[in-house]
Amino acid sequence: MTGHNKIEVLTQLVADQIAAGEVVERPGSVVKELIENSLDAGATRIHLDLKGGGILRIRVVDDGRGLPADQISTAFLRHATSKITSLTDLDAIGTFGFRGEALPSIAAVAKVTIRSRTADALAGRLLRLEGGAVVEEQEVGCPVGTDIEVSELFYNTPARLKFLKRQSTEAGHCSDALLRLALQHPEVDFKVTSDGRSTRQLPRVLKIEERLADLFRKEHLIRAEGGHGGIDVLAVLGPPERARAGAGSLYTYINGRFVRDRTLLKAITQAFGGTLESGRYPVGLVALTMPPGSFDVNVHPQKTEVRFVDPGAIYRATVAVIGEMAARAS
Ligand code: ADP
Ligand code: MG
Repeated sequence: MTGHNKIEVLTQLVADQIAAGEVVERPGSVVKELIENSLDAGATRIHLDLKGGGILRIRVVDDGRGLPADQISTAFLRHATSKITSLTDLDAIGTFGFRGEALPSIAAVAKVTIRSRTADALAGRLLRLEGGAVVEEQEVGCPVGTDIEVSELFYNTPARLKFLKRQSTEAGHCSDALLRLALQHPEVDFKVTSDGRSTRQLPRVLKIEERLADLFRKEHLIRAEGGHGGIDVLAVLGPPERARAGAGSLYTYINGRFVRDRTLLKAITQAFGGTLESGRYPVGLVALTMPPGSFDVNVHPQKTEVRFVDPGAIYRATVAVIGEMAARAS
């Protein structure tokens, strides 16, 4: 006879750890969530500091608007968000975050220290959590903004720790998570340090093209922009002969959000006609802007997948704008 297990409601920590499995796959996912929060908070300078590829420690320091002292612990409760209050808001999401899931998920599987101060507060507030539980809260002196440290990721979920790759690989994922966001925010100054060394400096610039030029220094990037059926397409791409195997250096966005979408990637390669070898992708960026109602980002926990109401329209707009550019360049 099989054992009979009593049905019980999961404890909050276990529920948070399960949810964390969706949001927090690796250090790079923590970096993505933290930097999105800094951008949502209006930061103009963001510093990412890694130790041991982010496995030992991830620290993000921003000069954003900070968390009010009386709300800092609330931010670590599940579904605590300052960004939406009703389901109808979901249709008009202008910020990255909206589920109020990131901080509690991260805190459930790591040790977190956050220091934050708003402009109108005389002192800042420090909060320390281990495995989701608050272990310390006190007033501290700190500049306006937020400084958050996530240490010993997965220390209490060893099964997940085993899935992580080498420190250098994880550091690469962290850096790429930052880059995906930095390419949409040329107006923000980004700095990355890793084990005490400076690994990336992206000073603020005026335009996305300038940021891309900083990144792909050796590439001759070509720009194209155009509208088609209510979809605006901006493409800043290297020439087909400099295309790389895989889409790792091709950054694609919908309404400012990094996405990976097969229709879009296919349209980009098709636009180059026969000039691209199969499996190769140009370096650079393609960013689409369309009415919020024409796609759904709420299909994937990490929000990198989208569902389009009319995928054909995406395809046609992309091929039209990039195809014209490819023809011009050849
Ligand atoms: P979400 O971003 O979905 O709202 P999070 O768990 O990522 O959920 O963050 C919860 C809340 O904490 C945010 O809504 C925001 O009010 C606050 N917050 C988080 N990070 C920062 C930050 N760097 N600066 C200011 N406020 C922050
Ligand atoms: Mg968030």
